[in-house]
Amino acid sequence: MIDPFGRQITYLRVSVTDRCDFRCVYCMTEQPKFLPKADLLTLEEIERICKAFMRKGVNRLRITGGEPLVRRNVMSLIERLGTWIGPGGLKELTLTTNGSQLPRFAKRLVAAGVKRVNVSLDTRDPDMFRAVTRWGDVSHVLAGIDAALDAGLKVKINTVALKGVNEDEFGGLLRWAHGRGMDLTLIETMPMGGIDGDRVEQYLPLSLVRARLSEQFTLEDTDHHTGGPARYVRVGETGGLLGFITPLTHNFCEGCNRVRLTCTGTLFLCLGQEDAADLRGPLRASNDDEMLSEAIDEAIARKPKGHDFVIDRRHAVPAVTRAMSMTGG
Ligand code: SAM
Ligand code: SF4
Repeated sequence: MIDPFGRQITYLRVSVTDRCDFRCVYCMTEQPKFLPKADLLTLEEIERICKAFMRKGVNRLRITGGEPLVRRNVMSLIERLGTWIGPGGLKELTLTTNGSQLPRFAKRLVAAGVKRVNVSLDTRDPDMFRAVTRWGDVSHVLAGIDAALDAGLKVKINTVALKGVNEDEFGGLLRWAHGRGMDLTLIETMPMGGIDGDRVEQYLPLSLVRARLSEQFTLEDTDHHTGGPARYVRVGETGGLLGFITPLTHNFCEGCNRVRLTCTGTLFLCLGQEDAADLRGPLRASNDDEMLSEAIDEAIARKPKGHDFVIDRRHAVPAVTRAMSMTGG
């Protein structure tokens, strides 16, 4: 699949639920309106769509959410998708998770063929963690990370940079993550969906964070690339990689290779644009996948060039109305 800007689409991110056991302040309101369960694709339908994409050249899948591991029976989907890993099939099946359920699932993930996971962790401080997630217990996440490492998973930590919240923690998080063989990626908050707080208050440009970190650490530019939007530096003192995802201070769209499926079967063509295609209709309209295949081709043919996220006082409304938990971050 090649989009109108010559980008090859080989990566599908699949949000299996919009629900979550946390309520991160930059992601959701305290009482989000979750989708009615009846609107969700079944796990079998998600598998059918994934397979249709694989026939068109997608070779990497990432399962996300909401919190993917709180969807009932999600492991059965992951186990079925895992059987497609191999030559001519998937190169990689991965997961983005808040880590809270990893103590239960880490070993099964490895058995299903998952080799690495991204775990979101904005702070290791129990009180701050509770404030960011509104009620989460960081000890569960830390136990989840231990379980993942013990099971042999490679773990990358994703940290959203939040002004006045975790901005003094990055050096400590870096030493801790690299000390345990985990890479760390810092992410700027993106203006997605309504939240209770003020995004301008939360927004911390990573250019500033990088400048501050370079007073404590030697940051060497690398050409390390995972096919994603992060730019990586190697940290001289720890030997580990530090990534920066900077949608606001640096546009990362030129190399975009991905599209995103929601748990209701909507295909979003760009994280920061409203352009979408309904795949649930064509999927349910027939038992063969011809209509589904046509709908996918039609959608890829209109993938937009990029997003135009801005966070400042003049742009009070989010760039897109859906939250990251809807599209799958
Ligand atoms: N629940 C899982 C988790 O937290 O990893 C998976 C879904 S979550 C939506 C995926 C990632 O998106 C997390 O790393 C989270 O911190 C990030 N995220 C959520 N809302 C965001 C926003 N408005 N701006 C930037 N990152 C966001
Ligand atoms: Fe849940 Fe992940 Fe959103 Fe936090 S960022 S509320 S863990 S979906």
